Amino acid sequence: MKIAVVGGGAAGFFLSGRLKRLLPEARVVLIERSSRVLAKVKVSGGGRCNLTNSFAEVSDLCHVYPRGHKLMKRLLREFSHEDAYRWFEAHGVPLTTQDDECVFPQSQNSESVILCLRREAEAAGVEVRTGCPVIAVRRREGEGLLLVYDETGERNELFDRVAITTGGAPRGEGHNWLSALGHKIEKPCPSLYTFNINTRALTLLMGIVVENAMVGIAGTKYRAEGALLITHWGLSGPAVLRLSSYAARHMDENNYNVPLLVNWTGETNVEKVAEQLRVCLRDAQRRQMSNLHPFGLQNRLWLYLLERAGIASDKTCCELGSKGLNRLVHVLTSDSYEVAGKGAFREEFVTCGGVSLESVSMRTLESKVCPGLYFAGEVLDIDAVTGGFNFQAAWTTAYVAAGAIAASLRDREAGDETRR
Ligand SMILES: Cc1cc2nc3c(=O)[nH]c(=O)nc-3n(C[C@H](O)[C@H](O)[C@H](O)COP(=O)(O)OP(=O)(O)OC[C@H]3O[C@@H](n4cnc5c(N)ncnc54)[C@H](O)[C@@H]3O)c2cc1C
Repeated sequence: MKIAVVGGGAAGFFLSGRLKRLLPEARVVLIERSSRVLAKVKVSGGGRCNLTNSFAEVSDLCHVYPRGHKLMKRLLREFSHEDAYRWFEAHGVPLTTQDDECVFPQSQNSESVILCLRREAEAAGVEVRTGCPVIAVRRREGEGLLLVYDETGERNELFDRVAITTGGAPRGEGHNWLSALGHKIEKPCPSLYTFNINTRALTLLMGIVVENAMVGIAGTKYRAEGALLITHWGLSGPAVLRLSSYAARHMDENNYNVPLLVNWTGETNVEKVAEQLRVCLRDAQRRQMSNLHPFGLQNRLWLYLLERAGIASDKTCCELGSKGLNRLVHVLTSDSYEVAGKGAFREEFVTCGGVSLESVSMRTLESKVCPGLYFAGEVLDIDAVTGGFNFQAAWTTAYVAAGAIAASLRDREAGDETRR
């Protein structure tokens, strides 16, 4: 029995290690195109690797997996975040759960996770090959699956089963050979990025964080809550990253130029915002508007918002009047900007889209069009918001695919035995 796992990232390592444990007699070859394995794990979570989440604040998986939540709901029953937590601790990586429910190694260093995955693959007896790009997979009826390593097709190798764990490809690179086999590919595009906004008065406020804000795309239902960070190129922070994930396709179709709404208060009920302001104004009648700072807004941001609402900062609170109040409430709850592109690649970045879940079995992650071929990790049309959910998808899908490959080979052996 010879099995290839194509792609030496998180999913590839987890899958091959487990597979080799399940089928010690099989040859499991992990094939990586570059010279370095687990490169994304290394840079993940700012070098600390946010490898899962406690899920304590997740009321519905669709809030964290904009693509693939139904499949994840099913597969997490087989390998959950708790299983992942236990697995890493049992394999020598003590973990810690932060207040925001993100799980990191106690070492605060992604190197611990890399070492663990490499050690496990080695201990299990997985053969790791680097510098070996796979350029195609072909079916050989009755024989297995042929991996092709060069354009001429002369360098190739036959396997009984193949798992594809080649990761995300935001520009669709590397998907041609999978679509050539008949898989449906959901159009890939980037997810989890920051927004460029060319409003100089805003970007001059760089460094300011608003803990509870809400951002949305005008004319759509896309909304996201959380902390908002003003940067020297626009807006960032968890709320923006979440919105970029929810609206990934919409943003891509609109060339990253969309009207953005910012609610600086985080309160969606406009009447409540107005009422809170009225109370503040009443309590501070003789003070200047500049001294108000409602909703915990920092001074520089408050002055900027007053200016946007056309309110002189030296006006006293009792002078504001209802028109001024309405303008202020509008700016606080529906401040509008134009997104002028997405931030550069330096932040966390995953792919929305990939191999369509319609093309794979929900139970085994085996291809429906190419028996013997399995998928795990970000190559599938599953992606999540930040918080460790993307790695959890890698561990879960890898675990399930490994189990399914092992079961299918055992069934084959049992069939052979019976025939004999
Ligand atoms: C900067 C950054 C930070 C991140 N931080 C976090 C985080 O803290 N928490 C979190 O949950 N997620 C994080 N993510 C997302 C997470 O890294 C990915 O979701 C995860 O790595 C996906 O794992 P994978 O194994 O499917 O793919 P990958 O890790 O991308 O691995 C795929 C591998 O396949 C190889 N490959 C591709 N094509 C071929 C081929 N044809 N032949 C052979 N090999 C091939 C690639 O070289 C690569 O090594 C981050 C992503 C980035 C970019």
